[in-house]
Amino acid sequence: MGNHKKETERYSRHILLKEIGEEGQVKLSKSSVVIIGCGALGNTIANNLVRAGIGEIKIIDRDIIEMNNLQRQILFDEEDLGLPKAWAAVKKLQKVNSKIKIKAVVEDLNNTNIEGIIKGADLVIDGTDNMETRFLINDACIKHKIPWIYGGAIGTHGMSMSIIPNNTPCFRCVFQVLPEPGVLPTCDISGVLNTIPSIIASIESTEALKILLGKSINNNLLIYDVWAHDFQSVKIKKNNECECCVKHNFEFLNAEKKTRITLLCGENAVQITPTKTGILSFESLAQKLQKSGNVKMSRIILRFTVDSYQINIFKSGRAIVYGTNDEKTAKSLYAKYVGL
Ligand SMILES: [Zn+2]
Repeated sequence: MGNHKKETERYSRHILLKEIGEEGQVKLSKSSVVIIGCGALGNTIANNLVRAGIGEIKIIDRDIIEMNNLQRQILFDEEDLGLPKAWAAVKKLQKVNSKIKIKAVVEDLNNTNIEGIIKGADLVIDGTDNMETRFLINDACIKHKIPWIYGGAIGTHGMSMSIIPNNTPCFRCVFQVLPEPGVLPTCDISGVLNTIPSIIASIESTEALKILLGKSINNNLLIYDVWAHDFQSVKIKKNNECECCVKHNFEFLNAEKKTRITLLCGENAVQITPTKTGILSFESLAQKLQKSGNVKMSRIILRFTVDSYQINIFKSGRAIVYGTNDEKTAKSLYAKYVGL
């Protein structure tokens, strides 16, 4: 069988659909998508889009795989524990489809790097777990006129909405201000049923295909509770005073750039992202740290264990401190062992 024939065979069930067809499949193979977040939503989105034959996919995620992720994150297994999520996902997905480009970005997405990461993409999809990142994605996508799809899942329900710059209402037309910390439920305290992220992610993936194929989309805010079997589609009106899509005041994108300390959702862990990032020398850092605790090192992570803490340090200088959810403790451990 020729190469072309094999690839046609791979997508034959999509080609048979009138919604996609041969022409649509070619379009998809020339499209590029950025998936932000590779947790439960991102896993299913990446799985769907890789199998659908999107030509270029970038997956960005800052976390490493934990035991409590296996309940719902379909791309990972027990052997992946401790590996960076984006990296493990790409390794798995490249085996599913070796004919497309898939790239892992093991980084914290923030206002210093988002524009570079989404540049040139046809579409951005939300697989994150926090509102702040969504406000940032909205700013960057409206500014660069890239369509994006919001999705979130918690408890037994989830939401999704497609945003096309200059065409539909934006995320800030719906959620005007960032809620105070502690107001919104997080998966830390609420838990999440393992069927809802894959449903929401599949809705997001379907909208993604429609946008990439140039089909008309429904830009209502969709809310689905899988336990109650309750489906709502809410019409959203453009806010004529919207800070983002009307006034082009990109507050989240233009925020002051400072060392960010973030509590990680669902983990007893804190992430430290220094302002100045560069390339750390793991060898010299390991030499220094060996005197105070246990050091394990791979190409991508240096893992340092001291007392009851485990500090995972990435090449860029970013670190995830496990064993505490106190920001001050994490910051002082980082300052002591890595240096701010
Ligand atoms: Zn707006």
